[in-house]
Amino acid sequence: MRLALLLVVCAVSARAQPESTPASSAAADDPIGILVTRLDLERYKSTIKGLTQFGDRRQGTDRNRAAIDWIEAKLKSYGCANTERLKYAYSPQEKPQPSGPPVAHPDAAVGGGRYRGFRAPTGVNTDPERQTDAKLRALDTQPSVPGAREEVYCTKVGTLHPDEMYLVGAHMDGHGWGEAANDDGSGTALVMELARVLSSPEVRTERSIRFVLWNNEETGLNGSYAYVAQRAPLQGRESPPGSGQYPEPRWLGMIQHDMMLFDHGMPRADGTVAKEQRPEADVNIEFQSRAKQAEGAQKLAWALHAANESYAADYPAAVGPHMTNTDSTPFMDLVPAISVRENERGTEIGAGWDPHWHQPTDVYATFNDADFRLGLNAAQTTLGAVARLTGATRAE
Ligand SMILES: [Zn+2]
Repeated sequence: MRLALLLVVCAVSARAQPESTPASSAAADDPIGILVTRLDLERYKSTIKGLTQFGDRRQGTDRNRAAIDWIEAKLKSYGCANTERLKYAYSPQEKPQPSGPPVAHPDAAVGGGRYRGFRAPTGVNTDPERQTDAKLRALDTQPSVPGAREEVYCTKVGTLHPDEMYLVGAHMDGHGWGEAANDDGSGTALVMELARVLSSPEVRTERSIRFVLWNNEETGLNGSYAYVAQRAPLQGRESPPGSGQYPEPRWLGMIQHDMMLFDHGMPRADGTVAKEQRPEADVNIEFQSRAKQAEGAQKLAWALHAANESYAADYPAAVGPHMTNTDSTPFMDLVPAISVRENERGTEIGAGWDPHWHQPTDVYATFNDADFRLGLNAAQTTLGAVARLTGATRAE
């Protein structure tokens, strides 16, 4: 008997992964904690799975347009009803805009950090034959055509300050002949899940929140640059005058989500990466120390870090100063802007920590629950932070 009991105790303490119970669930009177419990692993996974039915969702293709329609229908069904589309044009001939700040010395990573330890090769796969799934290869075959583009967003209107908002974004386009499950189905699903929870009719926020699914990130942040060019001048204007409506509330901050699932650690000396999520995996929150709004961006980053401490179930957060190469870049000199990721973009993802990045293996089946749970923890982090920053409450 005694031995049997001991074995039971050992088996319990050796369990690899705890359940994803938000840290705040004990505080039943915390309205934000209650909102965080409305996120769950199965819903998050099923939204990622839904996005992968459109293959790599490459910009300028039918599968990209079908994915935008699907995302818009979902947002409406969540109660984020007044969806809108930003329209712009894209051609690969146009002059690229900067993806990040200039890098100071030759061996620095993008964003300004320094590489350490082992590195593995990175790149974008352009060879269809490397996709061994014939059905997916066929789905990803239609090439991109230059021309008109669209991206969708919807807005939760603030009750007290409808003229001010936080932008919560991710890019819905991908490439590499896979399903863009992680890059960036994982970020897109996170933003959609936050839209679902916060659009619930009994949730009130004092300030507005806009949920944006950028297009053309992979070609050089063209969708987010177009948004900034078209809409920055409209900030804070009431239209029509006297209506109490603000088509472009004044920007208070921008939070981007890009690749949320995979933190298996540094490549080994032979370039291979561990098969399982490392137990010390974390959510990487980055601001850009060389941005004009670095001071405010840093504060925003720490607000997410604090929300992680309160609300994320399994994985901690880390803050770093090298945000780069994602849709927060076009905002970073105008408004506090940060990115949330599985790893630091420059020194880690850029050093080959994610072997599925832009590869045919970036498909839903590559990832397991320990991976998906990192993305869920990032969702708990941003939801908690944005709910605090916008003064979210629940009407009883
Ligand atoms: Zn990405």
